[in-house]
Amino acid sequence: MHKMKSNIPHLLGYTCTVCQRHYPYEEEMLTCPQCGESGILDIDYDYDVIRQALSRESLRHDHDNSMWRYKALLPLEDRDYKDFLRVGWTPLYPSLRLGHELGVKSLYIKDDGLNPTASLKDRASGVAVAKALELGYDTISCSSTGNAASSCAGNAARAGLKTVIFVPERAPQGKLAQMLVFGARVVSVAGDYRETFNLSKAAIAKYGWYNRNAGINPVMAEGKKTVSLEIAEQLDFKPTDWVAVSVGDGCTIGGVYLGFRDLYELGLIDRLPRILGVQSTGCSPFVDAARDQAPLKPALENTLADSISVGVPRNPVKALRAVSATNGAWIAVPDEAILAAMKKMGEKEGVFGEPAGVTSYAGVEQAVSQGIIKPDETVTCICSGSGLKDVVNALKAAGDPIRSRPDLEELEQTGLFA
Ligand SMILES: *Cc1c(COP(=O)(O)O)cnc(C)c1O
Ligand SMILES: [Zn+2]
Repeated sequence: MHKMKSNIPHLLGYTCTVCQRHYPYEEEMLTCPQCGESGILDIDYDYDVIRQALSRESLRHDHDNSMWRYKALLPLEDRDYKDFLRVGWTPLYPSLRLGHELGVKSLYIKDDGLNPTASLKDRASGVAVAKALELGYDTISCSSTGNAASSCAGNAARAGLKTVIFVPERAPQGKLAQMLVFGARVVSVAGDYRETFNLSKAAIAKYGWYNRNAGINPVMAEGKKTVSLEIAEQLDFKPTDWVAVSVGDGCTIGGVYLGFRDLYELGLIDRLPRILGVQSTGCSPFVDAARDQAPLKPALENTLADSISVGVPRNPVKALRAVSATNGAWIAVPDEAILAAMKKMGEKEGVFGEPAGVTSYAGVEQAVSQGIIKPDETVTCICSGSGLKDVVNALKAAGDPIRSRPDLEELEQTGLFA
């Protein structure tokens, strides 16, 4: 059997996000025993203990340029991370052109495509690998639309752990290639993401692997929150008025909120940024529910932004809370706007995001045009994955090259210099 009791002094326990019951901290408690599957748990921290290990001053002297600089805020036993892949501390670029074009006071781009497996998912996978090692597992499993899987496979490979991955058939080739190269056992499921998730759940229950399914494992959102800790620290603890995030399962946006909440509780920031949750109109269960003020309904999975093509989100409560607790907003953008955003971020800022990576920016554009984001406000846009993951859609966004035989006269006739 795996270890159950933990020895992590800064953890108080869990609170169920649905019924608000408290539970003592116990390893591998995934959901609330009272509420069942929908009872997603929050991890509660003892901020007085954390304050002794982490401050502006301690961070200033910390030369660890990875997300592990915030290990005092993660639900893990203390360990040395030097043999892990270098996750996090990705650049926060001040926009040089797009912010001006948009007409906002300032715009920043957090390029999380620069993580080791090229997406923000590495933040959760790094924590998953650390937790699996802590608990003595030799195999991690997850189901994913692609990035969580390739990220899980890469981070686990580095740690010498095995991975079993479940992906829906439609996962883009770039992501599939990554997981196979990292040596994962990959099951391509003839079905949609919901069916893929359910198969992985059944297999994990049967074979007893460590469960990296971010929707239900509360530890995963804790890894993702490090993106917010970085954004705040990179802005000298004065985060922007808004932070925009692309949303699929809802775990990322939920984590983004947790990071800012932690900093607020620690007194390191004095207000929470407003969180803008962005989806594609082709798959927008959160936006629909917020607009209709109704519970989430299953939505079609009809967007080219595969990483956020999630019809039945697994983390609805944390995602909805991220927006409501920060007085943020939900917005949906059509796929054409996502492709246009991909081209614009590449052309104007030199940042190449995958469709789901740049959906956040497309959402900012629309939020500005609808007056949700005001001209005197500041915005951070999280680019959550690299464009090299999905070159088919990148080429759709970018158009065709100029074609010429190796002949200068023909080159001139192409209109290259027009
Ligand atoms: C997973 C993912 C998201 C959305 O995260 P959720 O936790 O599913 O909401 C956004 N962008 C990229 C690139 C992703 O891989
Ligand atoms: Zn509960």
